[in-house]
Amino acid sequence: MSNDAVQLWELTRQFSSGTTSVTALDRVSLIFPKATFTAVMGPSGSGKSTLLQCAAGLDRSTSGSVTIGGTELTGLSETELTLLRRERIGFVFQAFNLLPSLTAAQNVALPLRLAGRRPPKARVREVLEQVGLGDRARHRPTELSGGQQQRVALARALVTRPEVLFGDEPTGALDSRTSREVLDLLRGMVDREGQTVVMVTHDPLAASCADRVVFLVDGRVHGELTGAGAEDIAAHMTKLEAAPC
Ligand code: ADP
Repeated sequence: MSNDAVQLWELTRQFSSGTTSVTALDRVSLIFPKATFTAVMGPSGSGKSTLLQCAAGLDRSTSGSVTIGGTELTGLSETELTLLRRERIGFVFQAFNLLPSLTAAQNVALPLRLAGRRPPKARVREVLEQVGLGDRARHRPTELSGGQQQRVALARALVTRPEVLFGDEPTGALDSRTSREVLDLLRGMVDREGQTVVMVTHDPLAASCADRVVFLVDGRVHGELTGAGAEDIAAHMTKLEAAPC
C-alpha cells in the first residue's frame, strides 16, 4: 500500500478560448503523504485554485495525472468521479455553503444522504463533537457564528471519513481568533486522526500550521518550506511577489 494520499504527476491545465490559451498549471508534480498537512501558497493567478480543483476531481487536467489512494482519476467516467469525490474526498471552501433551511446535523448528514445512505446518527454526532459543536446539532446556520458555520462545513466534509481533505481558503472569511480555532481543528485531525489535509491560503499564519508549504508561481512549483514559522513564510512570499516575470 502506498503511503501517499495524493500524487500529482506532470499535471497541466490549460484554459483556451478562441485564439488565446492560459496555462494555469504547468507540469506540476507533487506528493501529499498520508497524515500530513500541506499549505499551498502563491501570488494571485499562480494556479492554486486550479491545482486544488484538479487534485479533488472537480476539474479535469489537460495532461498529466492525479492519483488518490491508488486510484488514477484520469481514466474515470463522470459517474465514477462523482462517486470518488463523494466517498473519498472532503472539500471546504471560503464560503461555508451550508443549506440555511437545514440544522447543523442535517447539513452534516447531507453527503451521506446524497450517497443514498441512511446517515448513522452516532456518526453525525461524533463528527459534530470532533469539531466542538456537539451541543449545536439542532441549530440552523443563521443561529451560528461564522467560525461555528465553518466548523459545521468541516464536519460535513469529514463525515464520510475522506482520504484527503482539501480546503480552498477555509479561513479566508474568518477573523483571526476563529481562524485559529478552525486551523487548530485541522491540525488536530492530522495529528490525532491521521487525516491528510491540503489547504490553499494566502495567510502566512494559517500556512504556518501546516507541516509543509508549497509555493506556486505561474503554474509551476517554486520551492517549498518545511516546518516554517509565519515570518519565514511571509518573507518567502514577499520575495516571490517581487520577482520579475
Ligand atoms: P489562484 O488560485 O492562484 O489565484 P487560479 O488557479 O484561479 O489562480 O488561476 C490560474 C490562472 O488560470 C489565471 O491566469 C486564471 O485567470 C486562469 N483561469 C483559472 N480558471 C479559469 C477559467 N475557468 N477560464 C479561463 N482561465 C482561467
